[in-house]
Amino acid sequence: MQTYKVKTPRWLKRILPHGMVWEIADRNAVYLTFDDGPNPSVTPFVLAQLEQYNAKATFFCVGNNVARYPEVFKAVKAAGHTTGNHTYNHLNGWHTSSAHYLRNIAQADKHIESRLFRPPYGRIKLTQYRKLLRRYPDWKVYMWDILSGDFDTSITGQQCLTNVLEALEPGSIVVFHDSDKARERLEVALPGVLKYCRDRAWEMKALPA
Ligand SMILES: [Zn+2]
Repeated sequence: MQTYKVKTPRWLKRILPHGMVWEIADRNAVYLTFDDGPNPSVTPFVLAQLEQYNAKATFFCVGNNVARYPEVFKAVKAAGHTTGNHTYNHLNGWHTSSAHYLRNIAQADKHIESRLFRPPYGRIKLTQYRKLLRRYPDWKVYMWDILSGDFDTSITGQQCLTNVLEALEPGSIVVFHDSDKARERLEVALPGVLKYCRDRAWEMKALPA
C-alpha cells in the first residue's frame, strides 16, 4: 500500500513555511535530485546516465556518506552537478531537538559546504526551519514536486517510472535516491525519465548553488 504522495499537493505547499522551494518557474527545464548519497555502488551509475543525456542534477548528500566516500563526492562535483546538505546522519527533524538538528547540519556543512538544504523525509519543525535560516541567511531549502517512490520496495522500476512521468512537467523538482535500497527501481526509472525529457527537449538542470 502506497503511503506517500507522488505529486506534492498544492495545499501542502501553501501551508508550509514561505521560502521553501517546491518547484521552479522554468518552462523548459526539469530538476532531478538525488538524495542520501554519495554511494560507491549507485552514484557512479547515476553520473554515467546523466552524462549520457547531457543532464545536470543536484545531489543532497548525507554528511556521514561524504566523509566515508570523499572520492565519490568529488566525482559528483567534478561532473558539474550541484550538491546540498541533507544533515550528517539523515535525521528526522520531527524526532530531533532543534539544537541537535542544527549541530548535525553544521557537522555536515564541514564536508559539503553548500547553501542548499533538504530536510530528510521532508520533516523539519518550523522552529528548526527558522533557526536554520537565522544561522545561514543565504541558504535555500529545497523540497520537491515529485517523489519518485524509488525507495518503495513494493513497486517495480516500471511503476516507479510511470509514477514520475504521470506527474512530470517543466519546472518539476524530482526526488530520486542514490542508495542501495532504491537501486533496483532507479536503474529502470532514471533512464526512462532522461529519455522522456530529451524527447521533449526539456533541459535537465542542477538547482542553482
Ligand atoms: Zn533522505
